[in-house]
Amino acid sequence: MRYRLGMLTLEQARDAILAEVTPSASTQTVSLAQAHGRFAAQELHAQVDNPAFDNSAMDGYAVRAADLVAAGFALPLRGECRCGDAPGKLAAGTTMRIFTGAPMPEGADTIVIQEDVKFEDNRVIFPKSAQPGSHLRRRGEDFRRGDTLYRPGRKLSAYDLALLSAAGVAEIPVYPRARVLVAATGDELVAPGTPLQPGQIYESNRLATLLLLRELGMDAVDGGTVRDDPAALRAWLQSSTDYDFVITSGGASVGDHDLVKQVFAEIGEIKFWKAKIKPGKPIAFGRVGTRTHFFALPGNPVSSLVTFKLFVEPALIAWHHGASHLPQLAATAANDFRRHPGRTEFLRARIVAEGGKLVATALRGQGSHMLGPLRETNGFIRVEADSAGFQQGESVVVIPLSTEF
Ligand code: AMP
Ligand code: MG
Repeated sequence: MRYRLGMLTLEQARDAILAEVTPSASTQTVSLAQAHGRFAAQELHAQVDNPAFDNSAMDGYAVRAADLVAAGFALPLRGECRCGDAPGKLAAGTTMRIFTGAPMPEGADTIVIQEDVKFEDNRVIFPKSAQPGSHLRRRGEDFRRGDTLYRPGRKLSAYDLALLSAAGVAEIPVYPRARVLVAATGDELVAPGTPLQPGQIYESNRLATLLLLRELGMDAVDGGTVRDDPAALRAWLQSSTDYDFVITSGGASVGDHDLVKQVFAEIGEIKFWKAKIKPGKPIAFGRVGTRTHFFALPGNPVSSLVTFKLFVEPALIAWHHGASHLPQLAATAANDFRRHPGRTEFLRARIVAEGGKLVATALRGQGSHMLGPLRETNGFIRVEADSAGFQQGESVVVIPLSTEF
């Protein structure tokens, strides 16, 4: 794709990014515990059958169903089989005590649960209702040795790793964590801890970006704050080419001091720099050198947050060979929202689950410089480009940022 001056729609911009991302070529092998949140780099196969052997699903008595009928539902007790025992043999015409997970003794085909039996004259008395074949877990009924459990690009959760552990997988080839350098740009930015001089503000985007990256499992590196000075920006960018991604905030627009885009264009190749979204219209994406993907995100804190979610996250997932999708759910609007159609808009919203259904409130204070509503924000309401808004009670599309509704 060539340098584009025109504004891309949200979908065009996402497609352009995904088409441009060069996925990681290298892999590394890590232990199961280290693989949490990492992306599998190969197909992962079961090393064993699960269950590994026929076993009892309950505490009870193992029998041969035919013996039950032949002996009038009363059998002498011979032996016991616990978890970890090697499978023994059920002597003909007897029953064996057995516990949940213990291997079925050879010859047994049925478990009768302990609550259903009585004891009389040294014999175990079984109910006539005992069903042949009941309370058994069959070898391989869950998965079989050699089965493909996961494909490359799967982000591994705690449950996935539990499954892989049960399947006898000890080590997992994963893609390395993307190395991501994050910087803020702007002469007005200072760190909290020092009093503000006239014209200064406290910096906030860099911290949020670093922490969101770490939540996603990235190797995020703090690149500090770079001044609005072409030479400083140039030097900084030129020293950043051994990162997989570089993310800046601020200076991405067209003002005289919006130098980030200019310097990116000079040193790298900008693929696009405007998307028809609100907030976050000025966002530049491209490459520096052969390795580094860059995002110049807008400086306004809310714009930076929205563009991170819409564009940076899918790019990072694609770099790890994963398939990303933006979760978009239906909700009922709790209030009215009016606007001029034009751009796809993302409203900060409070989403709650009421009686199993989602209800979304567009929060007051949608200015892209306003951080206050973030206290209540747990998602966005998506307003389509041609929409003039919505009314209370109408269905809207929401993008949850968390599942704490
Ligand atoms: P810019 O995109 O550089 O024109 O910045 C747009 C607005 O966002 C300005 O009001 C900046 O002061 C503010 N801003 C830029 N970078 C940051 C940052 N890292 N943290 C907080 N506000 C910022
Ligand atoms: Mg600036």
